[in-house]
Amino acid sequence: MLARLTDPGEPPWDVLVVGGGATGLGSAVEAASRGYRTALVEGHDFAKATSSRSTKLVHGGVRYLQRGNVTLVLEALRERGRLLRNAPHLVRDLPFIVPNYDWWEAPYYGAGLKLYDLLAGRMGLQPSRLLSREETLDHIPTLEPRGLRGGVVYQDAQFDDARLAVTLALTLADLGGVAVNYASAVGLIKEGELVRGVRVRDEETGNESEVRARVVINATGIFADELRRMDDPASPPLLSLSQGVHLVLDRRFQPGESAILVPHTDDGRVLFAVPWHDRVVVGTTDTPVSGRSLEPRALPEEIEFLLGHVARCLTQDPSPADVLSLFAGLRPLVRGTKAAAKTAALSRDHTLLVSPAGLVTIAGGKWTTYRKMGEDTVDQAAMVAGLDERPSRTLDLRLHGWSEDPHLREWSGHGADAPELARVAAERPGWDEPLHLNLPYRVCEVVWAARREMARTVEDVLARRTRSLLLDARASVEVAPKVAALLAAELGKDAEWERRQVAEYGELARGYWLEAAGGSASSS
Ligand SMILES: Cc1cc2nc3c(=O)[nH]c(=O)nc-3n(C[C@H](O)[C@H](O)[C@H](O)COP(=O)(O)OP(=O)(O)OC[C@H]3O[C@@H](n4cnc5c(N)ncnc54)[C@H](O)[C@@H]3O)c2cc1C
Repeated sequence: MLARLTDPGEPPWDVLVVGGGATGLGSAVEAASRGYRTALVEGHDFAKATSSRSTKLVHGGVRYLQRGNVTLVLEALRERGRLLRNAPHLVRDLPFIVPNYDWWEAPYYGAGLKLYDLLAGRMGLQPSRLLSREETLDHIPTLEPRGLRGGVVYQDAQFDDARLAVTLALTLADLGGVAVNYASAVGLIKEGELVRGVRVRDEETGNESEVRARVVINATGIFADELRRMDDPASPPLLSLSQGVHLVLDRRFQPGESAILVPHTDDGRVLFAVPWHDRVVVGTTDTPVSGRSLEPRALPEEIEFLLGHVARCLTQDPSPADVLSLFAGLRPLVRGTKAAAKTAALSRDHTLLVSPAGLVTIAGGKWTTYRKMGEDTVDQAAMVAGLDERPSRTLDLRLHGWSEDPHLREWSGHGADAPELARVAAERPGWDEPLHLNLPYRVCEVVWAARREMARTVEDVLARRTRSLLLDARASVEVAPKVAALLAAELGKDAEWERRQVAEYGELARGYWLEAAGGSASSS
């Protein structure tokens, strides 16, 4: 795909997307499925930034309902239904419990969640219902029992964000499009006043090439203003950033198959504690920050806030040493600037801007609505490029790995790729063995990631093709030398490359756990 992308003999692409997170991948799949010649470049790895750091929920957003934003919830609930249908191997539904400690909570949240059911309509899951105190404790045996009156259970969905991103990149390739990671946009090509392509740097070799296209989509998330400034250095900033942090704990803190929604934290937000890959993910925070980083770090007060709320909510109080992993992500929030207000072509919770030079910028939104964002973006991009008008085909587009076979629809598996993965597992002794006793992955998945999922580094494998870094950061460091050796053999790299990969990964992963005392993220 890299050779095709940089081939000077290749005619201009119809659509070139910059950014390989949820938004860029969704837009590229949308464009390719309409039959437009489509390429996507990602400067690091797919989902390296915000798209691998979410709460992993495919949801309408109960929080938006509290604020009365019914249209947004309606749209997200429809998208939830579509994702469950089109990617059953990556998305599953699960019960969420809202525990009630005050007399007014059962009628208040009960009625709100009935509205949530109603909005989902025929895309709905199991209806919500009120629970007695005993039923609530059956769902979550470790819930703080003091003062507990009962609860409300409703059904929502969860997913594996980085795995969905990789699946979208593979779906794009299945559709004849091109997706290249470690390829950064470093400048825009203009013809006259119009954007007609991107200067792309191959981050592995440093080589630069010109990639021409009829329209360029800027889906660079928190970096969107940088690309806008390549177009027009005077562009006013569009984005503010807010950080969200999650802790990952052992399942003993919250056994059972249900998630918890705490509807009102000390700072007025909702908090989730969600079972995920046999761990519990707790989050999140909402802290305004100014610096843009691919590796944001949790602040001590965010960690204290999360540990404090878990201690209040559950019978066991986790200590910093109990935190298996700690990850932070940055939300790109669209400011209400005059420029945005004037030129926003569409805005629900995402914003779409077209610059006078024809650069299409898409920002905001959420993972759940990535498909709809892609649809809106490609409608706009096709108009800018003067492409033939073609209707969206993604409502029923089955994503890579989709299968009818119930065994291959199992949540968070490899879907229809599983039989081929089994053949890789049988290639060498040991490849069918667990990668590490504390991680739910097999050795063959590393080889698979290199051969079939465009993994280029130890971090790609441990952070995103598998979720080892988030499930147990220390275990992931222990297994890094083995992963580096397997990757080196697959990718034809030497011992020096292996050594550097292990060192770089170790340094990165140390930011994902807490030292036993003190409670701040280690950066040593
Ligand atoms: C804490 C938190 C929790 C969340 N939880 C949920 C949730 O549970 N459910 C939900 O639906 N949504 C959730 N969201 C929202 C969701 O994660 C985001 O809306 C979504 O991931 C944004 O994707 P994106 O593609 O716009 O941005 P990103 O994922 O940041 O992707 C942008 C990409 O562009 C690349 N890039 C930047 N500059 C260049 C360049 N010059 N050249 C090439 N590539 C470049 C970056 O490397 C990056 O990979 C959450 C967000 C946060 C922060």
